[in-house]
Amino acid sequence: MSIRNRIITADHGGDAIRVPLIEISGASDGPVTSIVAGVHGAEYCGIEAAVRLSREIDSERLRGTLRIVTVANVPGFLGRCEVQCPVDGQNLNRLFPGSATKDYTDHLASVIYENCVRDADCVLNIHGGDIFEELVPYTGIGRTGNAQVDERCRELGRAYGLPFLLESGSPPGAVAGGSSLNQAAQADGITSILAESGGRGLLEEEFVETHLRGMRNTLKWMDMLDGDLELPNEVRELTTDFWRISSEGICYPEQAIGDRVREGQRIGEVKDWFGDTVEELIAPRDAWIVAVVITPAARKDAIVYQVAF
Ligand SMILES: [Zn+2]
Repeated sequence: MSIRNRIITADHGGDAIRVPLIEISGASDGPVTSIVAGVHGAEYCGIEAAVRLSREIDSERLRGTLRIVTVANVPGFLGRCEVQCPVDGQNLNRLFPGSATKDYTDHLASVIYENCVRDADCVLNIHGGDIFEELVPYTGIGRTGNAQVDERCRELGRAYGLPFLLESGSPPGAVAGGSSLNQAAQADGITSILAESGGRGLLEEEFVETHLRGMRNTLKWMDMLDGDLELPNEVRELTTDFWRISSEGICYPEQAIGDRVREGQRIGEVKDWFGDTVEELIAPRDAWIVAVVITPAARKDAIVYQVAF
């Protein structure tokens, strides 16, 4: 029974890698669950929930080992960066399981993976909606083609207790090489999900609480804590996709999160630098709007909506 706070360190050609890790060993044996927050450094609700969970856990009541990385991407957090790690501009959540011999962010991914993920039984990839987006809280799972592993991830996705459980549309096997933290773990046979709650660069109590409930549910579902799961929502189990714009300019999405849109419905427009409409956005099929990019800056081929159907 112990609580140990430490910073895992590594050197990458003179640039320091630092990963803050809290390890809580329970009073009796049991599984290992790793909670990794702050893979995207400006997703504050997930980071705050991870910090708070670490302070509320009573190690005498815990079975097994709980590891919590509060901020996986420290340079991104300190730099207030959307998506990327500012040292080399890469998206940490596309580089797992990582490599110590490539770029800084690949090395960071491998430090996290080898210290916190590889030998775990359960891994949560905790996100909080990035600075530029607003989203309905949801859990995300990949597909490996290993039915047993995939079904356990789906069960954990339900147990986390958010209104949407979204499966990535990629075909089985497409995640075998790893990419996001949870998909790399899932490909290694570990029960793992992504969980999103929060957004717009804000620290909002409602979304912190949503994550905290999901984290507690996870520990109960793993039989590391006693108690019943708290499941306040009906869970919609759907497939997810991203809708993009094809023009550069100023984007005006017209749908809100949680909206249901119909095929052929107008859902926004893009204007050029002079205010003329250059693209009308039309829903290609019926879908739920799960996330909206709320900043008007529109690069060619940028995502404007995440949807589910
Ligand atoms: Zn994220």
